[in-house]
Amino acid sequence: MDERYEVVRAHIGGWFVRRRADGARVSKYLSTAMLAENACHRMERESRARVRPCLRCGRKFGSEGAHNRLCDGCRSRCSTLDAQMLATSGLAGV
Ligand SMILES: [Zn+2]
Repeated sequence: MDERYEVVRAHIGGWFVRRRADGARVSKYLSTAMLAENACHRMERESRARVRPCLRCGRKFGSEGAHNRLCDGCRSRCSTLDAQMLATSGLAGV
C-alpha cells in the first residue's frame, strides 16, 4: 500500500517527516523545511516502488510506480527503436 508522509515542525526546532498512518517519525531532524520536504517526497516515491512484471517481456523488475511498467531493457530498446523509426522515416531533425 502507498504510504503517506507529512512534514512536521519539531517543537525542539528543526523539521522532520512523519508517517500519517501511525504518526511515527521516519526521518532525522532536518534544519530546513525544504530538506524535510525533499525527504518526504523521496519516501512517498519509494513507498510506491514495487516489483512489477514488465508489460512487454514479463520479466519482474523494480518499478518506480504505476507509470513505470516497462523494464529497463525494454525501455531502452523502445527508445532505440523510436530513434531508428524517426531516422528511417525522415522525420528526424524536423
Ligand atoms: Zn521488459
